[in-house]
Amino acid sequence: MIQTRSTVVSNEQLAPDCWRLTLESSRIGAEAKPGQFINIKVSETNDPLFRRPFSVFRRVDLDKGGVGVQVVYRVVGRGTRLMTNLRQGNELDIIGPLGRGFEWRRDKRVHVLLAGGVGAAALFMLGQEISRAAQERGLELHVLLGAETGEKLVLQKEFAGLGGIVQVSTDDGTAGYKGLVTGMLREAISTGRIRTDCAIYSCGPEPMYRALAATCRQYNIPAQICIERHMMCGIGACFACICKVDKATTLKRADIESSHIQFIPEEDYGHALVCRDGPVFAIGEVILD
Ligand SMILES: Cc1cc2nc3c(=O)[nH]c(=O)nc-3n(C[C@H](O)[C@H](O)[C@H](O)COP(=O)(O)OP(=O)(O)OC[C@H]3O[C@@H](n4cnc5c(N)ncnc54)[C@H](O)[C@@H]3O)c2cc1C
Repeated sequence: MIQTRSTVVSNEQLAPDCWRLTLESSRIGAEAKPGQFINIKVSETNDPLFRRPFSVFRRVDLDKGGVGVQVVYRVVGRGTRLMTNLRQGNELDIIGPLGRGFEWRRDKRVHVLLAGGVGAAALFMLGQEISRAAQERGLELHVLLGAETGEKLVLQKEFAGLGGIVQVSTDDGTAGYKGLVTGMLREAISTGRIRTDCAIYSCGPEPMYRALAATCRQYNIPAQICIERHMMCGIGACFACICKVDKATTLKRADIESSHIQFIPEEDYGHALVCRDGPVFAIGEVILD
């Protein structure tokens, strides 16, 4: 984990409520793995007090040399509104890369990235890894991107560049499949366009994971999901970002001994720290209340 001051290289608006911030940081750029995040202090003052967490979208080579990291953020509140004022040359204090990210399943040939809204950002580096291995191993990559409207669809071009099959859905039908992205997934599976012998990696809102969990149970498909919680420190010190986890499933984790997961005596569940034990979990681990 690195704490560093990082210079803003650019901050571009991608959609009405969505921006892409590029930060100079060769060290974080070199270390970041798919699904990991950085915790950004969004202003020079202590207001807002807490850092804001964002998935690393990708690392980029900078024109002037060195490496940058990009995050894609949706404007939802005070911190993200302040971030829209950032300009080239501003400096930010950032910590990262943090958390446990995605691990693509080497035993599977078909891989599916399933994103709701800006959740797509968390999946891009994973897509890059799978795409790099695709030719040698004969892998198939499906990317399913969902948004409320066509205007809010982001990163379509970037995912198309990975060489997989990209499909989009919008709730109002203004682009692609009309309906939820999980509905599009179900249809692709039930019609055989996506084989059930696949692995799914997903990032989006929690209701989306509930629909995904039902599909995974029905077809016995393994999935990894990226969980969002209000987060403060991002490094396992403040215990603000707990999530409820299933005991039987979580006990099978290879890293259970070194994890921060605590089980409730006599109960079949426990609590994990999203910032350290996640944000990526196997779908069966998380109790989606
Ligand atoms: C590991 C991780 C990775 C993330 N990656 C991204 C990303 O790549 N792009 C992106 O746009 N956002 C991402 N988020 C969410 C992002 O951190 C929040 O949207 C941001 O902190 C909101 O700050 P704010 O001050 O603008 O909003 P606030 O004023 O703090 O909150 C505004 C609204 O957003 C809700 N909210 C705030 N933070 C969260 C959260 N963590 N989870 C759920 N709801 C929240 C609040 O309840 C409130 O309704 C990620 C969160 C986590 C935990």
